[in-house]
Amino acid sequence: LSEGIRCIGCGALMQVTDANKSGYLPMSALKKTIDSDELLCQRCFRLRHYNEIQPVELTDDDFATLLHQISETKALIVYVIDVFDVTGSEISGLPRFVGQDNPILVVANKVDLLPKLLNKNRLKNWLQAELKAQGIQPADIFLTSATKPQNLDDLLDKVDTLRQGRDVYVVGVTNVGKSTLINQIIKSRTGVTDLITTSRFPGTTLDRIEIPLADGQFLIDTPGIIKRDQIAHVLDDKNLKYALPKNEIKPRTYQLNPEQTIFIGGLARFDFEAGQRSAVTAYFENNLNLHRTKLLGADDFYQKHVGNLLTPSPTQVTTSTLVKHQFHTTEKSDIVFAGLGWVTVPAGIEVSGWAPQGVSVLIRKAMI
Ligand code: GDP
Repeated sequence: LSEGIRCIGCGALMQVTDANKSGYLPMSALKKTIDSDELLCQRCFRLRHYNEIQPVELTDDDFATLLHQISETKALIVYVIDVFDVTGSEISGLPRFVGQDNPILVVANKVDLLPKLLNKNRLKNWLQAELKAQGIQPADIFLTSATKPQNLDDLLDKVDTLRQGRDVYVVGVTNVGKSTLINQIIKSRTGVTDLITTSRFPGTTLDRIEIPLADGQFLIDTPGIIKRDQIAHVLDDKNLKYALPKNEIKPRTYQLNPEQTIFIGGLARFDFEAGQRSAVTAYFENNLNLHRTKLLGADDFYQKHVGNLLTPSPTQVTTSTLVKHQFHTTEKSDIVFAGLGWVTVPAGIEVSGWAPQGVSVLIRKAMI
């Protein structure tokens, strides 16, 4: 391999050591294909034969380079976000890089996780305000679910209307469902494997995947940027699967007196510190165990029960595992535990949210 064999799909230097880096293929596959004219890296192989895109991760610097290149072309930006984790979906610097003239279509994914009765127009208005805070004024907001797609044609129509001959760049942080969505689009649109090509962003080591559109332009998939303040980084895969919602979330409402606490498994904690007796509503994975207790003694309770009564728990637990964030509410608000879920609380109370070091806890206007 040292003399530099390249993948005929993307041109990456082939390697057999790191499955997460470009040009990877397992040694067994290399031995099989080395003398054929089908020498493809694993990523291109899957793309060509299964129409399946595998996510590649990249760093902030790489991503800045990539966004800068997009800013210099005429493009429609399709910005995929996770409605369950809007803050965690934020790409910092996106508004600065997309340029004045490039419209942004926000695709709000995973709506299947939200209560079905939620008013869609209200949700769009709420998203509009959240996006404004990120400095983004979308040309449109499109609600969808990549795992249960019912309106893909509408989405593609919307893309066609907005792009006006431009290329389309699909951007998003990891885990928002970008690959799932692109795979659905590929399946519905082409069905023809050879139509998909991979290439490089000029001057970078980044792959891009170009899916031809009707008029000679392309839908271009970009690698997902890694966000570090997500719950995904303090849990192992098994616990993560357990803690993240898979189906429509059933809200859980509690009548709380001041000085009561709710533990969210062993992962997070909500304290109602002061104010009038209130109803609070928790939005977390339905199987995630919520445990109500007294605020007084909650620290000891956690140390005693984390890992047994309070599960799942972070991979490492110490006396300072959970970090406290205090809030005073002035309107109906969500206390958000990044990526894990949120608790909706009324105006005029004092609350705290606790989460593992590195996982953000924040307050926002109530979504629901
Ligand atoms: P990417 O990193 O943005 O490419 O995200 P993936 O496509 O790999 O998806 C990340 C996770 O979210 C996977 O477990 C998907 O099954 C899940 N996912 C993607 N789209 C949806 C959706 O619309 N609804 C739900 N509930 N889960 C989704």
